[in-house]
Amino acid sequence: MWGFCLMKHYDYIICGGGMAGLSLAYYLKKSRLNEKSILIIEPKEKNTNDRTWAFWEKTPNPFEDILFRKWDAVQLIDVEGNSQNLDMGGYQYKLLRGIDFYNFVINELKKYQGVEWLKDLTERINEDKEGAIVEMQSGLKFKGRYVFDSTYQLNLTLKHNHNLLQHFKGYVIHTEKPCFNPSLPVMMNFNIEQKGDCRFIYILPLDEHTALIEYTLFSETLLPKEEYDTELKKYIAEQLQLTNYKTIEKEFGIIPMSDVATQEFPSEHVIRIGTSGGYTNAATGYTFQNTQRKLKSLVDSLEKTGSPKTKENWFNGRFRFYASVLLNVLEQKRHTAADIFATLYRKNPPARVFAFLDGDTNIWEELKLMNTVPKTKFLAAVGAVIIRKIKASLSGQLLP
Ligand SMILES: Cc1cc2nc3c(=O)[nH]c(=O)nc-3n(C[C@H](O)[C@H](O)[C@H](O)COP(=O)(O)OP(=O)(O)OC[C@H]3O[C@@H](n4cnc5c(N)ncnc54)[C@H](O)[C@@H]3O)c2cc1C
Repeated sequence: MWGFCLMKHYDYIICGGGMAGLSLAYYLKKSRLNEKSILIIEPKEKNTNDRTWAFWEKTPNPFEDILFRKWDAVQLIDVEGNSQNLDMGGYQYKLLRGIDFYNFVINELKKYQGVEWLKDLTERINEDKEGAIVEMQSGLKFKGRYVFDSTYQLNLTLKHNHNLLQHFKGYVIHTEKPCFNPSLPVMMNFNIEQKGDCRFIYILPLDEHTALIEYTLFSETLLPKEEYDTELKKYIAEQLQLTNYKTIEKEFGIIPMSDVATQEFPSEHVIRIGTSGGYTNAATGYTFQNTQRKLKSLVDSLEKTGSPKTKENWFNGRFRFYASVLLNVLEQKRHTAADIFATLYRKNPPARVFAFLDGDTNIWEELKLMNTVPKTKFLAAVGAVIIRKIKASLSGQLLP
């Protein structure tokens, strides 16, 4: 069957076996569709802890047993160093290590028939009458009834969009003396030099001796590589007052905080998933939990209707508008992110803010939240966003 002339067919082809691709394969095999054939195309081994996911949710998820930690409260520290302990109010803040997720899902998938893996790079995906054809860098071609693509690169250069980046470097450090409070992660600590950007540290304590310490920015451009390390080391030495520690892991990441129009369903048989499908919350960069939600409903739809296409309630589009407004405030430096987040969490029950960031609030709750942000600055941003959306629409930029 394998070869250049004969093209092997699959029910589903998943391009990219990262967080979204593996999650989708997992949900498919746990569903009534578990007899369908799946090809997962991924060039990497996925055997390192290349990222750590933090996210909040109210209910258990399928990866509950492999969570490294979960917490009922988090801490937020403003620019002046004032700290607030935020009771999650029914939510839990959860930490999942990349390596635990990869190992768990790959082992689960091995228990099922009909999952094939290919170590290659997807180069092109073309729509066909009854499916889509994936062309590999190696020259191989495969056909899938549906092709799920998590490798599509978003265009983050369109001028009418807000295209901020969340970029960060993190160290997992181990200290001899117990230094961390394992029951209280620091979600955002703005009490570091802001240098005209939005900069913060977050700390995810793994135990009393070990923590992931992450130096994070929301801005338009990346820093020179060594600056992340300098700032992290400075924070560890000056604020944590630690000189004797071992760095056991490092991670670096860039997450788009963009309101570029994404296409989850670019053609009949191609579906973009994960970051490629626009599953990232533009206002926060959080992607993990929304990906799980989206993929569960996509598999649900496949089971029930035979089509993965899910329809969004048009009224939920307002959350994307809110995200654009926040991005405009940040991009135009109308008000500091540090003050916006500190005030939002101080003046609202934290659970309302978490629900809002998940797109789960009602209009009444949203009005209460809006009442706690600097109104004239946000109104100016609303005007600017409307003008940009009109310009984007006139220049045909609303669809990539
Ligand atoms: C270091 C880091 C930390 C993060 N922390 C958080 C967090 O705490 N909370 C949160 O919600 N989000 C977080 N994110 C954001 C987001 O959850 C992750 O980026 C997540 O991995 C996105 O899933 P994905 O499947 O879209 O992309 P990926 O997980 O990156 O998967 C894409 C896969 O496609 C493969 N690939 C690329 N090109 C090709 C090709 N041409 N052909 C075939 N395969 C290809 C890659 O090797 C990769 O395995 C983090 C991101 C990073 C980078």
